[in-house]
Amino acid sequence: MNQYKKVAFYTLGCKLNFSETSGIAQNFEKGGYAKVDFEERPDVFVINTCSVTDNADKKCRNIVRKAKSINPNAYVAVIGCYAQLKPQEISEINGVNLVLGANEKFNILEHVEKLEQESKDSAVVLGGEIDDVTEFFPSYSIGDRTRTFLKVQDGCDYSCSFCTIPLARGKSRSNTIKETLKTASEVASTQAKEVVLTGVNLGDFGRYNNESFHELVLELDKLEGIERFRISSIEPNLLSNPTIDFIATSKKFVPHFHIPLQSGSPELLRSMKRRYKREIYTSRVEKIKTLMPHCCIGVDVIVGFPGETEEKFIETYDYLNELDVSYFHVFTYSERANTLAPKLEKSVDRKTRDERSKKLRILSAKKKRAFYQENIGKSFPVLFEAENNNDFMFGFTSNYVKVKTKYNEDLVNQVKQVNLKEIDRDGLFLIDFE
Ligand code: SF4
Repeated sequence: MNQYKKVAFYTLGCKLNFSETSGIAQNFEKGGYAKVDFEERPDVFVINTCSVTDNADKKCRNIVRKAKSINPNAYVAVIGCYAQLKPQEISEINGVNLVLGANEKFNILEHVEKLEQESKDSAVVLGGEIDDVTEFFPSYSIGDRTRTFLKVQDGCDYSCSFCTIPLARGKSRSNTIKETLKTASEVASTQAKEVVLTGVNLGDFGRYNNESFHELVLELDKLEGIERFRISSIEPNLLSNPTIDFIATSKKFVPHFHIPLQSGSPELLRSMKRRYKREIYTSRVEKIKTLMPHCCIGVDVIVGFPGETEEKFIETYDYLNELDVSYFHVFTYSERANTLAPKLEKSVDRKTRDERSKKLRILSAKKKRAFYQENIGKSFPVLFEAENNNDFMFGFTSNYVKVKTKYNEDLVNQVKQVNLKEIDRDGLFLIDFE
């Protein structure tokens, strides 16, 4: 037993990282550690990093400095995508004691226990080759009373020309449906009412077990103890028509899809090495909206990709303006090491990237407002969250509309049918209860 008792966590990045941090925290607690907040002078800091943009790297360095300012004698362990991609760079950050790549991050407790035998002068680095990462570690987030991120898939076999994730997380992998149902049953025994299915390339679930994401959806829908399932994000070419048909009638899978598009220009989709044509995307949206007109559809889109001329940007803008979708997540392209895109075409200057990002964010706000207005007067089940904000509380409908009402403890983590009355000046729905 290590005399280090207190551990604190800091997570950057995606839902997958949050579910993994939570899984790792559970192991520390089983190992006799008390999980404390970052500011509570822990003996061990664990920083779970992201590496989607340059900014993510900078953030990691700042958090290491913050940790050392809170407790200079503590051990600092850095894991996650940045740790897999640039272990040496991290090991040179003053104050870092341990750097673990994708293969070792789930054995962190063991490595932390060994740290006292190591000198503090230099960091212990266990990066490892990403091709050696083959094991799937299930995990789910705990701590949010209403919603749990359930990791069901990891890694990616695609090679989109702007993306480093396959280099950070390795090949696509998942557990079998039977094992995944076991993990989901554990979640069903917690309080959470909503489970958000998460992964790197979620729709690729089961490919190496001769199973499919569609089959997983059918099995999860039968599981007792979980009221709602939400699919975090799924590639358009991996969102099958049978899955859309099924979700249109499911009582548990909510009418909300988040589908990465990345560009509305066929030429840019090709140089991004995306695995679908624009027509596929259009047909998915049309099918969803035909079966579920109230369904919420979110879109990922990148601006400023190399070769994005003004014409190609307008192609994306017009395409999204026409499409019956509800909001966008707009990403400004940033060059990443060891990716193809920077070598492909003429890069777009920073100022233009930022201008285009602004234009798409304005369009996204317009789309979201229109989607909200379409829902005025309609009735949906809302899952109410625990936060009390100036005597108000919030919740999301099944189709991802945010509502607001007077704080009432009895509503926390409850699913209630409500009428969407009007949109207030903050863009939130005021409601009546049915
Ligand atoms: S599908 Fe493309 S963008 Fe998504 S993780 Fe895989 S390589 Fe990256």
